[in-house]
Amino acid sequence: LTDAHQRREQLAAQFPSLKIDALLVTSASNIRYLTGYTGSNGLLLLAPARAWFFTDPRYTIQAAHEVDCPTTTVKKGPLLDAALPLIKKHGYKRIGFEQQHLSYKAFTKLKGDLPLGVGPKGIDGAIEKIRMVKSPAEIDLIRASVLTNSKAYELAMRRVKPSMTESDLAAEIEYRMRRLGAEKPAFDTISVSGERTALPHARPGHHKFGNNQLLLIDMGATRDGYTSDMTRMAHIGKPSTRTRDLFNAVLESQLAAIDTVRPGRAAADVDKAARRVLKKHKLDKMFVHSTGHGLGLDIHEAPRLGKADNTRLEPGMVITIEPGAYIEGFGGVRIEDTVLVTESGCEILTPTPKELLVL
Ligand code: ZN
Ligand code: ZN
Repeated sequence: LTDAHQRREQLAAQFPSLKIDALLVTSASNIRYLTGYTGSNGLLLLAPARAWFFTDPRYTIQAAHEVDCPTTTVKKGPLLDAALPLIKKHGYKRIGFEQQHLSYKAFTKLKGDLPLGVGPKGIDGAIEKIRMVKSPAEIDLIRASVLTNSKAYELAMRRVKPSMTESDLAAEIEYRMRRLGAEKPAFDTISVSGERTALPHARPGHHKFGNNQLLLIDMGATRDGYTSDMTRMAHIGKPSTRTRDLFNAVLESQLAAIDTVRPGRAAADVDKAARRVLKKHKLDKMFVHSTGHGLGLDIHEAPRLGKADNTRLEPGMVITIEPGAYIEGFGGVRIEDTVLVTESGCEILTPTPKELLVL
């Protein structure tokens, strides 16, 4: 059995408890996870012990190489139109679908095609739950992505100078990633300076850094489909005491959060540990996002390390730990590592030193 085939069986074994006879999978990363297909247009119809894959003629050759279940090339019209007759033919009535990944138009068509009184059944989160725990092969791919990301950071930061702009640095980082083997950045690189570091998700701008500037770099690579995520802080010129204090408080919070990561702990406990330290430094109100998230084929996966997520951590989960504090008109600090939950605790996959890099 291939990995994809095993995952399909694992999922199909849950059909009785999900109360479905078959499942339509429409999210690109879930399709990749369940079939190996890396293209953009695809649809998977999964039934117990059977699966059918649909794509369009642009991907016929690629699908033949990647997908390990029968593939239909649909020359015209929506892929769903080719799946509906199969659903009917095999007498599948209760059809599961992904609420967040099926258009309203497709939903309406699917509903109209099913017997009266049996609507499609949302199964959001079921595949994502399986995806939370990574296989050894997936962990290797994430490790490679993390190393590529860190190497790109190291090479790009050597080139920082006062005449550079935020956008120049983001471009340099993304260029290095690709040269090192990534297929793309996992998200738009955040490279911001000065007061703008207080905007947790700012877009890189076009003004020059100058001689005295705090830098926040949040970057991730996608390599062989798997993502990485890291935030580091740097400073052009000598940082002020206030900047140092803010940095040290966030670092203490990040280390405290990492310290709580072990199997059996709730995701929310890790978040609590980060917040407790920031509260001690009167910075808890400036921490405006959750402490981290799972990653894998997608940059944001379950679990969410926030106040309300009681998912128990398990060996094989890969999560980020990224507390931050953001002060309007001054600046912000975030420190983020990609971390693997192990049998005894955790392993920090990110090799890049965390200290404030003074340039
Ligand atoms: Zn990040
Ligand atoms: Zn992140």
